[in-house]
Amino acid sequence: MASYVYSACQKASADYTTLISDIVLAQQATPQLRAALEEGSRRPRNEHIEIIDYFTTLSKQHLDNLQSSIERHRYIISDVEYLKNYFNRLNSHLAKLNQQTREAQRRPELIESLQDTAMEVGASQVWLYNQLLEDVRTIAGQQRLIMQRLSIAVSVLLVLMVSAATTLCLAVIYLRRQRNTMHQLMLTDELTGLYNRRHLVKVVSAALTQAQRAQAPLSLMLLDIDHFKKINDTYGHPIGDEVLRQISKQLRLLCRPSDTLARIGGEEFCLLMPNTATHDALQVADRLRREIEVHTLIDEVLHANPTISIGVTTCQSGSLTFEQLYSFADKALYQAKALGRNRVESLLPPNAPPPYNDPLTYAHTLIREPSDS
Ligand code: GH3
Ligand code: MG
Ligand code: MG
Repeated sequence: MASYVYSACQKASADYTTLISDIVLAQQATPQLRAALEEGSRRPRNEHIEIIDYFTTLSKQHLDNLQSSIERHRYIISDVEYLKNYFNRLNSHLAKLNQQTREAQRRPELIESLQDTAMEVGASQVWLYNQLLEDVRTIAGQQRLIMQRLSIAVSVLLVLMVSAATTLCLAVIYLRRQRNTMHQLMLTDELTGLYNRRHLVKVVSAALTQAQRAQAPLSLMLLDIDHFKKINDTYGHPIGDEVLRQISKQLRLLCRPSDTLARIGGEEFCLLMPNTATHDALQVADRLRREIEVHTLIDEVLHANPTISIGVTTCQSGSLTFEQLYSFADKALYQAKALGRNRVESLLPPNAPPPYNDPLTYAHTLIREPSDS
């Protein structure tokens, strides 16, 4: 837009220059006529008359050119009406001069009055062209000023528009970040950064559908820190929080990327393992239990490492709901607690296939829900 206004300014000033040079060109007719009058007076009358005739024609041509030039520049000199009076007056003077020239060609003794009229026409031309030049220069000056102000206004407008657009973009980026943060907060647990229960429920539903479609097993594990209340009571709540953070970090490092780990209660976690049979889930659970047991947590404060108890369940081909799965894993966890903690227990739905070939390999007891049949 600024460049458009800039080129408009350039064009307007260029047009004024053309018009002014047309006026200056026409102005030159006056000294030429005067010189012709002086030069002619030293020649025979008939030659003198011819010279006056020639310059009368020349002056008329200049005047016509100027008139058409003014017409062409009508858009920059809008008020051309007042100029017409000047032109009409000069045109009638030139016509009178022309007529007298014709008469003087027949009666050379009229040369005196022809000379007087020629002088009058010359003076009239001088006055007209000077006036015209002055007017055009004034208008050009005013126009230039308007154009300069206009380009300043357009530049300011552009700066404002760019600022507004930038502010808008920044606001959109800020809002988008806020929305992402909100979204993240809705999915995650603030203390540990793990997913929260709400997100887990969504993921489990999708995983169950997928398992059903693929006829694949899906395992779910509940992990609970043993005697966590005692840690809080002995070392204080902030240390308890730190233990939660450390165990969460440790669990996250040990989990496979395809599994979903969430904190679903105070010191209770849940791990969803798609495409995982009981056999593999139990192996994973026991590995997690042992890693947490040996992993030293803030050892300068805690005298003994916290341990975790784990309940595992498996759903064959996605046939259970989240609540059912959770309930089986919870019962298994309860069993692990009841049997002394720091251990893995599993509970499978009725009619589930045996989880592994050698039950003694793992330190847990396999419980089965009684089958309906
Ligand atoms: P168990 O081995 O049977 O699981 O015993 P426990 O002490 O771990 O279980 P209990 O349910 O008796 O106590 C859980 C404690 O966890 C009680 C509660 O104050 C604490 N807790 C829950 N959420 C937080 C938390 O965000 N930070 C801390 N520091 N403590 C928490
Ligand atoms: Mg506990
Ligand atoms: Mg608990």
